[in-house]
Amino acid sequence: MESDLAISKDRKYLWHHISPYSEANPPMIAASASGSWVTDIDGKKYLDGMSGLWCVNVGYGRKELAEAAYNQLLSLPYFPLTQSHMPAILLAEKLNEWLGDEYVIFFSNSGSEANEAAFKMVRQYQQQIGQHYRHKFIARYRGYHGNSFGALSATGQAQRKYKYEPLSGGFLHVAPPDSYRRPAGQSVEEFNLLMAQQIEDTIVWEGAETVGAVIMEPVITGGGVIVPHQVYMDRVQEICKKHGVLLIIDEVICGFGRSGRRFGHHNFGVKPDIVTMAKGLTSAYLPLSATAVRKEIYEVFKDNSDDYGYFRHINTFGGNPAACALGLRNLEIMEQENLVERGDLLGKRLSAGLSGLLDHKLVGDVRSFGLITGVELVADKATKEPAPLDTVKGIIADCKAKGLIIGKNGDTVAGFNNVLTFAPPLASTDEDIQFILDTFTEVLNGSWAK
Ligand code: PMP
Repeated sequence: MESDLAISKDRKYLWHHISPYSEANPPMIAASASGSWVTDIDGKKYLDGMSGLWCVNVGYGRKELAEAAYNQLLSLPYFPLTQSHMPAILLAEKLNEWLGDEYVIFFSNSGSEANEAAFKMVRQYQQQIGQHYRHKFIARYRGYHGNSFGALSATGQAQRKYKYEPLSGGFLHVAPPDSYRRPAGQSVEEFNLLMAQQIEDTIVWEGAETVGAVIMEPVITGGGVIVPHQVYMDRVQEICKKHGVLLIIDEVICGFGRSGRRFGHHNFGVKPDIVTMAKGLTSAYLPLSATAVRKEIYEVFKDNSDDYGYFRHINTFGGNPAACALGLRNLEIMEQENLVERGDLLGKRLSAGLSGLLDHKLVGDVRSFGLITGVELVADKATKEPAPLDTVKGIIADCKAKGLIIGKNGDTVAGFNNVLTFAPPLASTDEDIQFILDTFTEVLNGSWAK
């Protein structure tokens, strides 16, 4: 199809996620992809410096994944998990191996759904152990947990505000450990401890007997790459234990090697009660998500079996056999090709290269965690005033014109929509990483140097 025709049909029929259709900067219409590169319908190639939406970890064009799904579709395309099938069993077993602890796995289709299931599990669990008032959740500002009402209510970004309220009740927020913007004179450790203390203060002020769980990503990713200090994660874990509050770790982005380890929380030695995951589970080739629940929590549900089952939460497509078979193959590829270690290595290289740009007048901070790097753009290095949105968008558009896709993250609430993000596939080549560094450096040192 002619690209003009495709663009006009796109404009007429398609409702894009978040971004409105823009005449000045029309969407790229992707046609095919291989490795870290996506080709549009005009044949122009782009390096996908964001792995789609932080998910295509093994890279594009993996025939083994297509075959795993194809073979499964031929033998058993669907069966609900009200009963069972082998691909789900085998993937659940493999996830235990990856998590390194004993969890029971509940499958759904998206990160939002994985978090919704987690919230309902927490409420039911707390009730069943006699904690009848523990219905509240504590999350962080700038954190993102999904688009459905519960997950959106846990989200601490602009998406939740104004247009969709009232949201679900019982979701409270505290400030994130944004060390770059800590008060002058405070050490990173002191600041992180104070931020963790906000969680304990909220639990105490609300009444610990009303709080069911804390939910957090190991590192706030889409909210602007906010990396906590080890003391923060240690303290959060201590606080949750002390007050009988469960800890849900949202690994939707950080999981499956993106963080330099198998899961983001492994970097901090955290032992979550519940882990939610999606995206990298199938490298996004098919929709699949999971809520992993500690065995001791799951055991409590068995005592409530009645006509409606012990967890009244059904999901028609969740754990689709083809998605599970593909997910299992995806994890096997990651193991065979050592992609967790590879991502860690590439992350260090990318981070070192981007940190070389800290002298640039617009670059306020460079933060990394595994193969995720955030470059915070500022208008003034002394005041740390965020760079204007036009600057952020302009740099992204210039990168795109040179064949590099990067992300814009942060949060519009307080004007912090100023963090450029880099998260290429874990299977990227050395040349891919060099291309990202060369292209971004050329853009920043071009018209943006003045
Ligand atoms: N949690 C996190 C940390 C996410 O980044 C996202 C999606 N970007 C979600 C949950 C929701 O996932 P989904 O879009 O698959 O519903």
